[in-house]
Formats: sequence, C-alpha cells, structure tokens
Amino acid sequence: MVKIGVIGLTGCSGCQCEILNCQDALLKLLSKVEISLFPLAKDDNLEDELDLLFVEGSVSTSLDRDWLLRLRERTKVLVAVGSCACYGGVQAQRNDEVQIEEMVKEVYGSWKLPFEVFKPSPVSEFVKVDYFLPGCPLDKKQFVYTVSFLLNGVKPFFPKIPVCHECKLSENECLLLKGIPCQGPVTYAGCGAPCTSKGVGCQGCRGDCDFPNHEEIISILTKKGLSYEDALKFLKVFRGNTFRVRRVDEKGA
Ligand code: SF4
Ligand code: SF4
Ligand code: SF4
Repeated sequence: MVKIGVIGLTGCSGCQCEILNCQDALLKLLSKVEISLFPLAKDDNLEDELDLLFVEGSVSTSLDRDWLLRLRERTKVLVAVGSCACYGGVQAQRNDEVQIEEMVKEVYGSWKLPFEVFKPSPVSEFVKVDYFLPGCPLDKKQFVYTVSFLLNGVKPFFPKIPVCHECKLSENECLLLKGIPCQGPVTYAGCGAPCTSKGVGCQGCRGDCDFPNHEEIISILTKKGLSYEDALKFLKVFRGNTFRVRRVDEKGA
C-alpha cells in the first residue's frame, strides 16, 4: 500500500482543505493508498516512512524547519503544494522590507519565543522538492492528476504557459484593455483563469510562467495608472522570495 502524508507548515490550511475537497477522487484513491499522516483531517497520525508527502505552507519557524527536515528523511517523493510552500506566499511579500525581529516584537511583545522565527521561505530553501503545485490555493485537478500520475509511475508535468492562454480559451475580453490590472501574461496557467473569467484581474497566485516578461507587464501597468512601485508590489504579492524583475529572454522561477 502506498503511504501518503499531508502536512501544513505556516499557512492558512486552505490548500489542505482543497485536498479534502477532492472528495470523490479521494474516496477512489483510498483503496490504493494509506493516508498515514494528515493532522488536519485525522487523529491517529504516524510519522512513518512515506512514499509521498504533500507539504503546505512556508517555513517560518524552527518548528516548521525541524518537522520538514525530519519528514524529508523518511519520504521518497515530496510535493510542495500552494504558493506558500512553493514561493513563501503572501507572508513573504515584504521579506526584503521588514526586520523579522521588529515584526515579532510588534505582534508578540517580545522577541524571545520558545522557538526561532525566520523570514517566511519556500520549502525548497530547506529540502529537496520533487514537484511544485502552486496556487492560492492549489488547483484540485492538478492535485488529483499528480497523485494518479505518481501512483502509475508517471512524472507529473504541467506546462508553464501564461494564464492569458486559458483566459483566451474562455473567450474573455482582455481586462487590461478596460484598464483593470492583470498579471495573466506573466503568470503560470493551470487554474483555468477563474478570476479573469469573473472580471477580476489575475493576482499572480500561481507564480511565474516560463519566460515572464516582468519589464513589459510593469510598463503596461504603469501606462494603466499604477506607479512603478505599486506595479512591483502587485507582482510581489504571491511570488515572495522568488521575485525579481525578469526580461522575456530569462527563464522563470
Ligand atoms: S497557498 Fe494560499 S490557500 Fe494555500 S496555505 Fe498558503 S495562503 Fe493558504
Ligand atoms: S484579462 Fe488578463 S489573463 Fe486575460 S488576456 Fe487579458 S491580460 Fe491575459
Ligand atoms: S487567474 Fe491568476 S490569481 Fe486567479 S487563480 Fe489563476 S493564477 Fe491565481
């Protein structure tokens, strides 16, 4: 029986809830896998040898780090799920602007806590990650495909094309033409463009597509009325530690 684990480090548990929301697929999988570890969903958890571990959340404390290192040693394949685990997430968007010590003092009244606090970081800064499933939250279909592929010995692969591709397949009128800020041209598709289909600009929750031209999207956003600084902040919301302005001839994160 294939042994699976699902854990949450620092995050909102939204990705774990999305995994639980794959109800029908999960019920079918239960005949082929044993869910050994899933503290959000069950009481009897075993930190045993695992074939497959899904990790949600950024590494933000020594507790996160130590748990992750311990489980990585016992795990064959590790998948980072959600933008917190893949990029650091929304909690990492100001990592280069704030002093973590000042923030901790502001929130807890003291820097001295029973554990260390770090700048929120992606899981890959601490351990080897075999596959990344970004999104805030992760996409349920991609989770189910990934588990099915891995159970059948196939490497999961999702092309890093831009959200604009899926937006156009949905026959949406481009929001940028209406002056609504949108990160679709530089963001990794796979979500089906649900935001732009509802008239909300893509916020970049899945991180960079391949060859993202940040310079060009910043130029477009400033022509639509955003300041250069606000355009940069907009791009950094979900890209966390991994963000730096790239040109079209550079590969994405
Ligand atoms: S990626 Fe989004 S939904 Fe998932 S844990 Fe982080 S904040 Fe929550
Ligand atoms: S609305 Fe956004 S995602 Fe859709 S085509 Fe325009 S820029 Fe691309
Ligand atoms: S459209 Fe953009 S913000 Fe919305 S789910 Fe897709 S990647 Fe995330």
